[in-house]
Amino acid sequence: SPILAIETTCDETACAILSPEGAILAETVHTQSGHAALGGVVPEIAARAHLALLPDIVAETLEKSGLALAEIGAFAACTGPGLIGGLIVGSNYAKGLAVALDRPFLAVNHIEAHALTARLPGLFAHDIKFPYLLLLVSGGHCQCIAVKGIGNYEKLGGTIDDAAGEAFDKVAKMLGLGWPGGPALEKLAREGRSDAVALPRPLMGREGCDFSFSGLKTAVARQIAPYGMEALPRPVAADIAASFQRCVCDVMADRARHALALLPEAQSLVVAGGVAANGAIRTALEALAGEAGIPFVAPPLRFCTDNAVMVGWAALETIRACQGAGQALEDGIPTAPRPRWPLTEMVPPGNAM
Ligand code: ATP
Ligand code: MG
Ligand code: FE
Repeated sequence: SPILAIETTCDETACAILSPEGAILAETVHTQSGHAALGGVVPEIAARAHLALLPDIVAETLEKSGLALAEIGAFAACTGPGLIGGLIVGSNYAKGLAVALDRPFLAVNHIEAHALTARLPGLFAHDIKFPYLLLLVSGGHCQCIAVKGIGNYEKLGGTIDDAAGEAFDKVAKMLGLGWPGGPALEKLAREGRSDAVALPRPLMGREGCDFSFSGLKTAVARQIAPYGMEALPRPVAADIAASFQRCVCDVMADRARHALALLPEAQSLVVAGGVAANGAIRTALEALAGEAGIPFVAPPLRFCTDNAVMVGWAALETIRACQGAGQALEDGIPTAPRPRWPLTEMVPPGNAM
């Protein structure tokens, strides 16, 4: 029977219902609008909004699916990592439904959900096989992950300061663009020349595949300072935006190249997270995958950003892997909300303590 999944880790309140095979029966994603005016996600406001929105979002999703609540066979929600308030609201809502209907509840790791999205049935003509390299680049995350199997992940590298999306947002803010800044910055960059402004490419060429963006951000600030944000001529802003974006592309391709060297058996290069919406970054990574002779896999944008379909799919993958390993679901993952929950703490089904 179908599974109902909930996502509330940040500022998306989302619900999805999937068939046991992973077909999407219904889906709703609500991006909370109040945060833009405040220049970023305010955790307490987000949590209260999740609480207010969830009953309607779940009801709306059930209605779209044509199913009655009693026909749902399992419930899933992210219990981490993320903002604690949202985690508590979303996971307790799903747990409450599971207890009321006497169905299993599955605690899903939000990063694992991003990591497994590429395997959603029907997205690509070919199966995405293990192991693959995942580049997770969003507002809160910037990591190179070796995806070796369900519950089996190795972090090859990550950011030592800002996440990629955070860097886009901060630079966009300095350029006087709104929040979230990524899309606006990409648009402005089209008017500029990417070789106009000399900017650093942090950690490029260095061993491993860690990221750093704070030096780049500071260098951008130094370029803007002589003008002041209000008096920044648009052509200058466009040149800075284009040059910044070029740097991020170069750094990402370089870091991904190093990550592939650490995972030579990678079957494909998969990108996820909101920053994967960026056309220039997609092009740079596609070229790199071509060089390495492996497919470049970029899920459609609505599955790159936060959504509940990926949560339901990760839960289904976990259920199937548990069945395959002869492990009971309740012997699996602890269900208490965990603001920090690194993928490296996941345990592959069959290996539970
Ligand atoms: P999490 O890390 O928990 O998923 P999040 O909700 O911030 O957090 P997403 O919703 O996946 O992450 O992505 C949002 C981020 O993606 C923002 O930082 C935004 O600026 C960035 N982004 C979106 N579109 C683009 C784009 N075209 N170019 C660059 N960055 C972009
Ligand atoms: Mg978001
Ligand atoms: Fe996310």
